[in-house]
Amino acid sequence: MKPLDELIRPHLRHLVPYSSARDDYDGTEGVFLDANENAYGSVIDAPLHRYPDPYQRAVKDRVARVKGVRPEQIFLGNGSDEPIDLLMRAFGRPGQDQVILLPPTYGMYGVSAGLNELGIKSVPLLPGFQIDVTATLAAFGDTTKLLFVCSPNNPSGNVMDREAVERLLDFPGLIVIDEAYADFSPEHSWLPELDRYPNIVVLQTFSKAWGLAALRLGMAFASPEIIRVLNRIKPPYNVNLLTQQHALAALDQTERKNERVAKLTEQRTHLQKELSALAFVQHVFPSDANFLLTRFDDAATVFRYLIDQQVIVRDRSRLPLCEGCLRVTVGTEAENAVLIDALRRFDSATP
Ligand SMILES: *Cc1c(COP(=O)(O)O)cnc(C)c1O
Repeated sequence: MKPLDELIRPHLRHLVPYSSARDDYDGTEGVFLDANENAYGSVIDAPLHRYPDPYQRAVKDRVARVKGVRPEQIFLGNGSDEPIDLLMRAFGRPGQDQVILLPPTYGMYGVSAGLNELGIKSVPLLPGFQIDVTATLAAFGDTTKLLFVCSPNNPSGNVMDREAVERLLDFPGLIVIDEAYADFSPEHSWLPELDRYPNIVVLQTFSKAWGLAALRLGMAFASPEIIRVLNRIKPPYNVNLLTQQHALAALDQTERKNERVAKLTEQRTHLQKELSALAFVQHVFPSDANFLLTRFDDAATVFRYLIDQQVIVRDRSRLPLCEGCLRVTVGTEAENAVLIDALRRFDSATP
């Protein structure tokens, strides 16, 4: 890895960040006449008239304890999509630099790269959805700033081999390891390695295992130096007060989160078995996430049939290595039964 000061876009080295009223005084007692808020309160029955903590300190303290990291290693954003975009904006020079993507993978990396006018070096995963290490190493260069590794990978569901990722750690830029689905996997997170590898950024989210997709809260974990860069360029109040309050409540419910994860992984095993038993299913890929990539004889027809039955799955058949594949999110026991019933009827209706 190059020194962070060389990786960051040159004009940002001297950018003076927005200084919010709450940066100047962070006590809680006093008469607050500094932020042009409405002193008479909100027009609805909710205490929302003050700007929230721009650094979400209370939430970070709790996240730090739950995840076993230090608060200064945490960035919180409006979903994981926000740190994905901020990393590109901080380190990628538009029209000059590239990111390395390993398709088939999460679509936002490519969209965000496009928005930021960054080139995309695509290194397709190998059959079995593992990393082609040799080809990825060959894609490294002076202007490749970010490498995105999604593990467990969306849409394939598998964890990336640890040794393969370890062989990539000499990357000159930052390696972003997206662990949105880590709770559903028995494999170890990369979080404990943060102190060893200054160039990794681990992404996690409240959207999947915690069941809080509507809250829009994503986490990025990295060295304090990288977190400081993200803090300097983020919108000042990027995580609203309601999100911060609900996140604090959620972080007291890790037991419940674990129960949900246990139920979903149990349902995943069940669904995997039921799908595999269908004659027109070619393959159900093993999954460490809360979805199953499934290959059908005729995915397009199954997809349309399911929509007619008001069962909505995701068509991934146009992605590389995913020909004929639909991505099925694991539902509740009842939802999975509806899906399987519908597919059995499809089976008996086709010659
Ligand atoms: C769902 C998902 C996320 C989560 O995105 P949020 O913006 O936090 O909801 C991140 N990465 C991957 C690979 C995902 O599938």
